[in-house]
Amino acid sequence: MSFLEFKNVEYSYIGGDDEFISALKGVSFSVERGEFVALVGCNGSGKSTLARLCNGLLTPDSGEVTVDGKLTTDKSALFDIRKKIGIVFQNPDNQMVTTIVEDDVAFGPENLGLPPEEIRARVDWALKSVGMSEHATSGPFRLSGGQKQRVAIAGVLAIKPELMILDEATGMLDPTGRREVLDVVKKLNREENMAVIMITHFMEEAAAADRIIVLNKGAVAADGGKELFAAPDVFTAAGLDLPLYVRVAGRLNEIGMNIGCPLTVDEFAKAVADKINGRAGAKK
Ligand code: ADP
Ligand code: MG
Repeated sequence: MSFLEFKNVEYSYIGGDDEFISALKGVSFSVERGEFVALVGCNGSGKSTLARLCNGLLTPDSGEVTVDGKLTTDKSALFDIRKKIGIVFQNPDNQMVTTIVEDDVAFGPENLGLPPEEIRARVDWALKSVGMSEHATSGPFRLSGGQKQRVAIAGVLAIKPELMILDEATGMLDPTGRREVLDVVKKLNREENMAVIMITHFMEEAAAADRIIVLNKGAVAADGGKELFAAPDVFTAAGLDLPLYVRVAGRLNEIGMNIGCPLTVDEFAKAVADKINGRAGAKK
């Protein structure tokens, strides 16, 4: 049994004119404990809907979602499910509920009804994990975007979830803020064995994952490892804009150059150089 399982999940919204807006169509996938999954897809492809289905904020019209074997439609399991799966959203400002960082991080554990000393320990641990201990008594609104998102991550972390979903949580951050958040998430995944679903359209974030799921118009268009980038048509078909070097690498693979799937400019340059040097060597 996988930690999180989607089986043939359908979900529609009801629009202003009472028409059905189909957001997810027959979505099936699973996520294991400790896995790091990137979920990519263009605007409107159903990513946020999928995220909200994971912890029962939404429930499927048909099909099923289970967390640790429990259906998200089982109301008696919801409290437990929400402890196991935490979501960090896009806008850091909407996620702060108090005026002091440590109070904000304490909000989740307080709602779990934990004893004060356990709450204190979790807040300290969570802030330390995201590198924000020295800002414990600051006002969130004095922080940079990256720092605020790290506080939001600490808030979710303090609940000790087994899976953290980041729904474009770096979308409003500058490159420095993005890097800070990605580094923290990678560390938590590695050191705490926390599973991660990173919803993103940034290449460097997708490349950090063990596995990539591509959503296109509410359906899973691809689900695989980094090798997906070696034949990037599945991304472009889903309306995703890949960096030029990834597309060039894909074309080179197509014409038989087999340079693999370099995920940074440097890896691309090295893969091409190795190929050329290898050929030059072979001719001698
Ligand atoms: P993404 O996060 O990939 O941008 P969403 O899951 O937000 O995609 O949206 C999927 C589809 O559902 C889109 O067509 C979107 O317009 C529609 N949708 C999302 N939220 C609502 C809502 N609250 N009411 C009606 N339609 C919605
Ligand atoms: Mg979204």
